[in-house]
Amino acid sequence: MIYAIASGKGGTGKTTVTASLAALWDRPVAAVDLDVEEPNLHLFLRPQITAEEPALMEVPVLDPARCTLCGECSAFCQFKALSVMGKTLLLFPEMCHGCGGCIALCPEKALAPGARELGHIISGHFRAGRAEDAAFLMGRLRVGEAMSPPLMRQVKARLARDAGGSGALPGALPDVLIDVLIDAPPGVSCPAVNAVMDADVIVLVTEPTPFGLHDFRLAVEAFRPLGKVMGAVVNRAGIGDRAVQDYCREQGIPVWAEIPFSRAVAEAYSRGEVAASAVPEMRDAILALMARMRAAAAASTPGEARHA
Ligand code: SF4
Ligand code: SF4
Repeated sequence: MIYAIASGKGGTGKTTVTASLAALWDRPVAAVDLDVEEPNLHLFLRPQITAEEPALMEVPVLDPARCTLCGECSAFCQFKALSVMGKTLLLFPEMCHGCGGCIALCPEKALAPGARELGHIISGHFRAGRAEDAAFLMGRLRVGEAMSPPLMRQVKARLARDAGGSGALPGALPDVLIDVLIDAPPGVSCPAVNAVMDADVIVLVTEPTPFGLHDFRLAVEAFRPLGKVMGAVVNRAGIGDRAVQDYCREQGIPVWAEIPFSRAVAEAYSRGEVAASAVPEMRDAILALMARMRAAAAASTPGEARHA
């Protein structure tokens, strides 16, 4: 089962919840940080890192001696990553999405595959519930790189390979054989959708504030068309009103956990500790959340009911 922990806005406690779930998970699990622009799950899980590899994307490289400036490549490229300017073909690799079309169609074979570094894929392991060795995986986008989805797809392809899937479809997670907890990027733009689109279950973390409700609505509207099982976690419950819970009731979204505001949790966070390991009340809330997530996943997949 793949669980994506997401939020409409940053700062709701998404990573606190993800790290707590990962630390208490009592089945084979992989914790995956897909918030590649600002990964921080490792700060709490403190995994032992065993590998760090560059993630590359294919971009065209020009042989000016062969180019006739026919312009076929620039006409083809939907992303304006090549352009004939006077007597020069200009390439903008940072705008290239790596489709390879221009390389295939150039009649003069003036374009060849090159590479641009997107960032790094970092893997290792950490101790989860019942002291089991659990897998850790994260992407870290190169500073200055604008496009995170290509790196996220490579992290997911790596996960599919390592977790027992075929990995045949970059960007998809077919047949993963262990549970996966994805820490998704906040918001509702392309990276956030990319992070949750392969999940079986989306856990939406929010807070009971006007901003929290506003961005929670956006997340519900963005993710609902994906047709996933979805539930909410109201973090810092008690600091605001109950408008989030009312909205969830209207929308038929179950509230799987209400985590009370706690200074102890904030202090644990500031020390880089897993909140569920440091604060007993948080541990109880996360265990209850875990049970509800699993029950919802099992209910949506009859064959999984025996694991719930
Ligand atoms: S298609 Fe080939 S020959 Fe034509 S402009 Fe592009 S690189 Fe040059
Ligand atoms: S590989 Fe695709 S996206 Fe990149 S420059 Fe060529 S046509 Fe454009």
